[in-house]
Formats: sequence, structure tokens, C-alpha cells
Amino acid sequence: MIILIKNSEIYDPDKIGKRDILISGHSIVAIQEEIMLDTNVDVKIIDGHNLLALPGFIDCHVHIAGGGGEGGFSTRTPEITLSDLIEGGVTTVVGTLGTDGVGRNMAGLLAKAKALEEEGITAFVNTGSYQVPVKTFTDSISMDIMYLDQILGVGEIAVSDHRSSAPTLSELSKIAAEVRVASMLAGKKGVVNIHIGDGVEVLEKIEEIVETTEIPIEHFLPTHMNRAEHVFEAGLKYLEKGGYIDFTTSSVPAFIEEGEIHCVDGIQRIMKKGLDLNHVTFSSDGQGSLPTFDKNNVLTGMELGRVTSLYETVRQCVFEGHIKLEEVLKLITANPAHIFGMKKKGHLKVDYDGDVVLVDKDTLEIQTLISKGVLLKESGKILKKGNFES
Ligand code: ZN
Repeated sequence: MIILIKNSEIYDPDKIGKRDILISGHSIVAIQEEIMLDTNVDVKIIDGHNLLALPGFIDCHVHIAGGGGEGGFSTRTPEITLSDLIEGGVTTVVGTLGTDGVGRNMAGLLAKAKALEEEGITAFVNTGSYQVPVKTFTDSISMDIMYLDQILGVGEIAVSDHRSSAPTLSELSKIAAEVRVASMLAGKKGVVNIHIGDGVEVLEKIEEIVETTEIPIEHFLPTHMNRAEHVFEAGLKYLEKGGYIDFTTSSVPAFIEEGEIHCVDGIQRIMKKGLDLNHVTFSSDGQGSLPTFDKNNVLTGMELGRVTSLYETVRQCVFEGHIKLEEVLKLITANPAHIFGMKKKGHLKVDYDGDVVLVDKDTLEIQTLISKGVLLKESGKILKKGNFES
């Protein structure tokens, strides 16, 4: 299909101005002030004059094959649906396993990623789960990263959490070293996605690895860095050292009451300190469980993370936090694309993938979604559902 979007204001995520965008096959083939087509080939023309054109959103931490289970088998969370991703404007996802690396495994995670690819979404995964030693798809982290295109790194490995496998400094160093070498050999960036719990340790081991080995800080992406004030503070110091941090956008009121930093406040505080927003990402933790525990770590309740929270949080940053769209949009586009080494993602550029979100210029609500050159939503209406979705 050939799609021509006329006259929309482009955010790359930087604000570029009004342009036409031509998409053919899977890719963006032209971005110009005016594109005129003299052809009798079927072209879908979208009037974009009241719309902003944004790069398809990247959600870099989603339990695509389900997660949870902390309250027994009936609390295992469901797989994500195509509609969930379309509603969230997410055209690229990084899937991950979580607490349960026994009842769920890499074969299931990769199968789900392949299913999403068939349905029109770009899906990558991390190898492993919370646990160390890392349970891989092949016989090693190196083989997984080198020979499986979908695998971009390892994770989410849990530290500083009562659900972690209490990994030692030596174990974490060896994992990071293996990710570094394998990703060099594979021409990938190589990410070690670290789940940070609410314990007191936070980033101590990661910082020690960076300080005492030759492994560059860019390989680590600690997530849930807004989960508590002491975790957030450690994240600010880590940013100062040049590290990357990820904030989780799915939340429940109980988390905020217990001291979780709302993403809007977190971004404002980072900006006030003059720290580098290019080193910050948002991810939804979609389909993950949002368990609440009492002071003795006994489970008291559980809700489900949603990918729709990713872009909703960007809108909150704009409307409640008065942060410019182009400043916060990169947290779900250019930044994750750079950190994970997704070569044709995160920008609206010629030869990049045809992943475009069109939003209302006033309300910023998602109107239209194009993923890999295919229209999945138009004028607020979802055009394609996943198999077995009602
Ligand atoms: Zn996690």
C-alpha cells in the first residue's frame, strides 16, 4: 500500500514543521514540503492538516506473553493483544519475562514476538527473566544475542528486590561482559535491562561494575527508577555519571501514596537539575502485574500494567507538566531506539520504517496509526484486530 499524509506538522521527535510524508511498502520513502503524485496507482491519501505526525512509539519493557503470578497461578497475567498496542500507539515493543521464569520461558516469549510481527507490530525481546543464572533460548546468552535477530539483550534481571535471585556482583559482571562481547560480534548495542526493586541496594552493584571493570555504562538500562524516592535519587546520581534510566508509566494510586514518583514530577525534576533527558526512557511494564505488598512483603492486591499508559504519560507531561511535546516525545521514540540500537526506528526520516502516529494537534489524542506501512487505525477507529480478539 502507498500512503500519502498531507500537511501534517512533523515531530521527528524534534519539531520539523509542516511536511508531506510518503510511505511505500514498509518504509518512509519521501518527506517534503509538498509531494505531488501523478500516478494511476492506488494511493491512500490522509489529510493531516489538523494532525501532528509522530514516530511510532517504542515501548521498551512489556510482558507481551504475560507476567505476574506473585499471588499464585490464577494471578498470572494475560498476553498482550494487538488492539492494546494499537490503542497505545505502540508500533515497536521489547518483550520480557518477569518474576516467573519457570512457568514461562523464552520459547513462549519468542513465539509471542513472532505472532505480533505477523500481526504488524515490530517485536524484539530480552533473553532471561528476573533470575540468575539467566535461562536462555539457546545454550548461552552469547548464542541468543548473536544468532537471534529479535533478541537485543538480557533481562529483566531483578536486583534489590525480595523477588530477585539475589545475584552477586560477580554474576552480574559476567552477564554484562557476555552481553558486551556478543553484541559487538552481532553488530548490536546489547542491553542489560535491570529490574530495580524497592530494596536499599538500588544501583550499588551496577555502579561497582562500571567503576571496577571496563564494561561501559551504556549497556545497562535499569527500569522502575521512579518506584520510590530513594530509587529516584539514586537514578539522578546515575544520570550524572552518564547512565541510562527507565521510568515505568503503569501505576496505581496506592503506589503513588506509598511514595512512587509520578513520571511528570520525575521529568520536571530532571529538567530542573539540567540532567540529560536523552538518557531517560519511559516504558509501560504493560501486562506486568502491579502487586501491592504490606510491610512484611505479604501480597495485598494486584492490577495489570497497560501499554496505553506510555503515551498517556507523555500527554500528562505536556498538559499537566507544561513540558514541550518534542522534549518528552523522545523518551518513547528516539531514546529507546538509540539505547537498544533499533536502526530504523524512533524517527520520521526517509528509509526509516513506516511507523507513524497521527494525533490531534490540540488534544494530542491518537487518531491514526501506521505500522510498517500498514494502516492499523484511522480517524479513531481500529481497522485490524488480532486473531481471537472479540
Ligand atoms: Zn520489573
